[in-house]
Amino acid sequence: MYSLTPLVLAPADRPSPAFLRGEPKKLLIGGEWVPSLSGRTIETVDPTTEEVLTAVAAAGPEEVDRAVAAARAAFEAPSWAALTPYQRSQILLQIAQVMEENAEELATLESLDMGAPLFLSRWFVAHSVEVMRHYAGWPTKIYGQTAPSEPGQFHYTVRQPLGVVVGITGWNGPLLQAVWKLAPALATGNTIILKPAQQSPLTALRLGELLQDTDLPRGVVNIVTGDGGVTGEALITHPGVDKVSFTGSTAVGKHVLQASSGNLKRVTLELGGKSPNIVFSDADLKAAAAGAALGFLAGTGQGCVAGTRIFVEESVREEFGRLLADELATYTMGDPFHPDTRMGPLASRRHFERVTSYFDVARKEGARLRHGGELPAEPGLFVPPTVIDNVTNDMRVAQEEIFGPVAALMSFTDEAELLRLANDSDYGLASAVWTTDLARAHRIAAGLQAGTVWVNTYGQMSAGTVPFGGFKQSGIGREHGTDVLDAFTETKTVMIQL
Ligand code: NAD
Repeated sequence: MYSLTPLVLAPADRPSPAFLRGEPKKLLIGGEWVPSLSGRTIETVDPTTEEVLTAVAAAGPEEVDRAVAAARAAFEAPSWAALTPYQRSQILLQIAQVMEENAEELATLESLDMGAPLFLSRWFVAHSVEVMRHYAGWPTKIYGQTAPSEPGQFHYTVRQPLGVVVGITGWNGPLLQAVWKLAPALATGNTIILKPAQQSPLTALRLGELLQDTDLPRGVVNIVTGDGGVTGEALITHPGVDKVSFTGSTAVGKHVLQASSGNLKRVTLELGGKSPNIVFSDADLKAAAAGAALGFLAGTGQGCVAGTRIFVEESVREEFGRLLADELATYTMGDPFHPDTRMGPLASRRHFERVTSYFDVARKEGARLRHGGELPAEPGLFVPPTVIDNVTNDMRVAQEEIFGPVAALMSFTDEAELLRLANDSDYGLASAVWTTDLARAHRIAAGLQAGTVWVNTYGQMSAGTVPFGGFKQSGIGREHGTDVLDAFTETKTVMIQL
């Protein structure tokens, strides 16, 4: 029923970028590409075919030491520290430019590496370019304050970079997440070590090559690949690191917070979610159904903001259910490079097994798989859009982040009950409400415990202009907006006796 496009294209129809050929990919440290000292590598796999794409170096503590030293040296070097804000802006614009010029290659690598449909990978790249340009505007606009001072004194504040920043990213939007860290770190004058997820490191590495076509001084951006337990651990515990900006699961995020405490690193955490998507009976139900489908199916459900708890007002539950079913039928699964594909495979076999294990969890809890829940006959990591009905908010399928194209459908009868249910979650990343009643939209937006509330839309992302982050166990701190400038700088107070 769901397999409307070729699940896997013939090899001749699949791209094979030159970047993937040759030796295992190396680490970018101090402007040089170096192999891991141990020679250890990690294979990165195309989740569509489950074939190995290439291997990347696995950095150990010694390579991390070198990367931290290179980032520290670059932070202190006049080639970076003595640049004017305007010159820093120009470098960020150059980075945006080289990314834009190589957009199709970056998008292709992203789709090969993590299975996102090509149209989505193209959006990831275009968005990343826009984000880079947004931050290119900041260096010339980071102000301190003058403070009321007693006579004979002058008090003011300045904003200074933190020093060496580590950016650790998840596998589900690799380039975008890297740029969300890289751009504000550089705009505020820091140096950075990026550690992409081991499942999808390719676009970060290609970006590292592209940076070498700009005037960015050596060592300002370093890229170390490897798994979390070794490479990531060495970074978050390193005494030479001043800040960790982490995107990933809540479980690892909690560990990052603890492990970074040795030298009291500044920590920003962008973690998981189980976001409520709320439909009132007065909403445009067709638009709400389209938004609900997109909300939990974009990126094959592998999105931190996925709207995986759909709350529908009881009086329109059946009508909404029918409209949602119509929308789900338009989500064709297949090879990311087929033009009709709206949903690719899940990103790895391990993840596929975890996601599909929730079908049994749902059944055992007494819920009903209303759509989906069965796999296509062809092999591969493809999971159809799945809606679970007969769910109560205390069930595991309503509380745990599944991170696949699976949503729980629940209903409510009044606003107070709705808010209690919607907020009854450890998470608080995103949320949405569909209604034509303006006052109700504001009431619900005020009551939801979530970092973002969408009204009559789902998944809208700004290219840097508004803060993004989570309440509760969805994270600490914010990316974007003016908040991110605080997160990447220290405020220094200067008090002068005149
Ligand atoms: P993950 O936590 O398994 O891994 C994230 C990163 O952390 C990877 O680079 C990994 O190598 C690294 N890591 C793992 N163990 C580590 C350790 N001990 N020390 C240091 N680093 C370590 O997450 P994932 O499975 O890659 O990503 C999916 C999760 O990310 C989901 O929970 C999703 O909701 C979340 N996410 C959040 C946002 C957001 O902005 N809030 C965005 C995207 C994804």
